[in-house]
Amino acid sequence: MSLLIRNGEVVTDTERIRADVLCEGERIARVGPGLSAPANAEIINAEGKYVFPGFVDPHVHVYLPLKTTCSKDTYETASVAALAGGTTCIIDFCSPERDELPLDALAKWEEQSRGRSACDYSFHMAVTRFDPEVAEQLREVIRRGISSLKIYLAYKDSVALAVNQIEQLMAFAAREGVLVLGHCEDADEVDRLQKELVAAGKTGPEWHYHSRPPAIEAMGTRRFLEIARDKGARAYVVHLSCEEALKEAVARGGLGERVWIETLISFLLLDKTYAEKADFEGAKYIVSPPLRERRNQEVLWKALADGTISTLATDHAPFDFGTQKQSGRKDFRFIPNGMPTLEDRINLLCTYGVKAGKLGLNRMVEVASSNPARLFGLYPRKGAIRAGSDADLVVYDPACPGTISAKTHHMNVDYNPFEGWKIAGRPSVVTVRGEVAFRDGLFVGTPGRGAFVPRPAGR
Ligand code: MN
Ligand code: MN
Repeated sequence: MSLLIRNGEVVTDTERIRADVLCEGERIARVGPGLSAPANAEIINAEGKYVFPGFVDPHVHVYLPLKTTCSKDTYETASVAALAGGTTCIIDFCSPERDELPLDALAKWEEQSRGRSACDYSFHMAVTRFDPEVAEQLREVIRRGISSLKIYLAYKDSVALAVNQIEQLMAFAAREGVLVLGHCEDADEVDRLQKELVAAGKTGPEWHYHSRPPAIEAMGTRRFLEIARDKGARAYVVHLSCEEALKEAVARGGLGERVWIETLISFLLLDKTYAEKADFEGAKYIVSPPLRERRNQEVLWKALADGTISTLATDHAPFDFGTQKQSGRKDFRFIPNGMPTLEDRINLLCTYGVKAGKLGLNRMVEVASSNPARLFGLYPRKGAIRAGSDADLVVYDPACPGTISAKTHHMNVDYNPFEGWKIAGRPSVVTVRGEVAFRDGLFVGTPGRGAFVPRPAGR
């Protein structure tokens, strides 16, 4: 099967050129002007449109079981939502319970995803306990192509890893050549503040922020990066939300060499007043770290544009407002954390980042596709438009305005945190390994065709 994308403007992290892209089977065969197509080729006219490498979201929760509920999306729904928004590869988090072994948890995530995803996917492995038995299994996990480990300094009662175990895990990661991702909020401090607030009758969603102030994220970021440096591990700060934490990360050194920072589309565009909305509406916006003061947005945009921040993800975590979020009506601690954002990342970034002049098109591709691919061992299979790369492509119409709404989105959740927001453009065609999967707002791909992508360890 051949596919020729004609007359578009090919935009990668480094180039902007008028060129055609010829795909043979699952791969890109040639990139250049005036390519001719084999007789049986499907031809897509991309005149007036951009051709981007498929976007990679390195921080997504599709299957996310909590103590009392589970995320609403399945691999069927999340992958179609991802493709609708131009994301062709997602990395989910496989998260064992503390008393569960990594391979047992991995079997669950494999069962949830195998044969069910329309886009390609991979996993990070969360480490919620570290001992010799876990270490042995993690070696096997790494052998299977899961070359990034995630730790939580937060969530004291469920997944937080004790400091001495973090130290051992970092030393292990350094030896095995795998990247360590850190959720950097200090669990003990959060726990203390939560109890104080609730004891004082401060139980509404607006108080969630006050249980996790910027100082706690800054402290956690510092600790995470100090231990990583001491043990020689490469470290990746997930979902950095504020200036205080950014300053700590920059002060620790090694940015772009052994330390990388991720932020989220939600932190660039939403502030804490959303979580303060009346009538429990704020619960839609409860995430950790919390949405911050508005002043942080300019700081994050600038850091994203100038290279201080390397990647832009979503931390997609879908829970229904009408039912699941309601379990925290009397106490914000019981609101499932997370927002559905997988589908809208690129359209929002194009509209409120590129079109607003906050970052260039090449940089957009870099932070939302090429850098995630490079850091997580997917490049140049993903994140590039060149001969030999997977033919994951987004033909993007920058002048196709629309409005974000839960009524029309593909995510399996009853609200959208960006309800009513305008977008300037959107994908018109999205391909997955040479097959057109999305066209003019409709999924036309093959359900379940998405594959697990193994990612070899870096060194
Ligand atoms: Mn987190
Ligand atoms: Mn997360």
